[in-house]
Amino acid sequence: MDTVYLDNNATTKVDPKVFEAMIPYFCENYGNPSSIYESAHVSHCAVEKSRETICEFYSASSPKEIIFTSCGTESANLAIRGTLHNTSKKHIITTKVEHPCVLNTYKDLEEMGYKADYIGVDENGELNLDELKSLVNQDTALVSIMAANNETGAIYPYEEAAEIVKSINPETKVFVDAVQAAGKIKLDVKNTKVDFMGISGHKFHAPKGIGAIYIKEGTNIAPVLTGGHQERALRAGTENVPYIVGLAKAAELAMNYLPYESTNVKALRDKLENGILSTVKNAKLNSRTKNRVPNTTNIGFEYVEGELILLHLDELGICASSGSACTSGSLEPSHVLRAMKTPFTSLHGSIRFSLSRFNTEDEIDYVLKNIPELMKKLAKISPFQKELSQILEI
Ligand code: PLP
Repeated sequence: MDTVYLDNNATTKVDPKVFEAMIPYFCENYGNPSSIYESAHVSHCAVEKSRETICEFYSASSPKEIIFTSCGTESANLAIRGTLHNTSKKHIITTKVEHPCVLNTYKDLEEMGYKADYIGVDENGELNLDELKSLVNQDTALVSIMAANNETGAIYPYEEAAEIVKSINPETKVFVDAVQAAGKIKLDVKNTKVDFMGISGHKFHAPKGIGAIYIKEGTNIAPVLTGGHQERALRAGTENVPYIVGLAKAAELAMNYLPYESTNVKALRDKLENGILSTVKNAKLNSRTKNRVPNTTNIGFEYVEGELILLHLDELGICASSGSACTSGSLEPSHVLRAMKTPFTSLHGSIRFSLSRFNTEDEIDYVLKNIPELMKKLAKISPFQKELSQILEI
């Protein structure tokens, strides 16, 4: 069996159709979209056509609401810093389970004198909207809430959150990080009170290095990158035409594949999840919420170190990921699982499996065949050998 790639929330394979659509914009139609000759006009048209496709992908009202960026991180920074640049309000809110592109930006802003509040989640990773309600006030400039969590796949009720925020303070801006929702569930921004929504191409089969942000028409925001007048002067720098074309092609494919994601990809994810939970006795599902993107499962393996599981999975040709980040030589457990108060016994052994439309049933069968044996093998070298042997009955 070739590599079984189950780390699609980290990044995805570029769809060959996306790559094919990009090719003419490297060596043939390479003109700068701002120039006036014919070949530049071709580039300009390609960018504007792509903007229309991304507008449709978001279900936005107008292509004018779409700005191309380099990635999800840049989209988040533009929404957050761009909003605060134009207001004297000093209070900002987000959740404890955001991606570092939001959390570290908030941390930076706290150092600059902003007051930040972080909303918690329950043991299934569900957001506490009552807490949000109690925190919004007349000094709140911005609320950032992700659409789907990258580690657990939990879908957050950002539409409802935006309603709550605006009912208390209509001037407060709402940013939604939809990087892990795009291509997995339908985006319908027009029917919400959301002001900004960020996406990133490499999470749905476009290349790395291209993203976009929806900015509701009429929203007051300053650029983070200053320079030329590209992207309505909100994102200076010559447009990355081939990658913009690739993003649009990936979005077009993703829209067509949405029913496949919610049936076939979900069926494979459920088979993997149920298969592991029924055959591996130390496996526990993190985030039991029904409201999850169809491709993600996060499973805690009690009394085993996550990095060790990953290394052994790698030997079997299986790519997955753990929530742990190696910080200054120590293994730091995932901030998302900690916020969910995941028990200590499985916190360090939690593995995220994230699928895509390129996965097959044979691949899932291969993983299911190998994981029970792997756990028995790891039990023998675990410092918790006694506890594990009892649970695994070996
Ligand atoms: N937001 C979420 C939820 C993510 O999962 C990621 C990447 O993992 C990002 C933002 C950052 O996206 P990018 O890598 O395009 O900057």
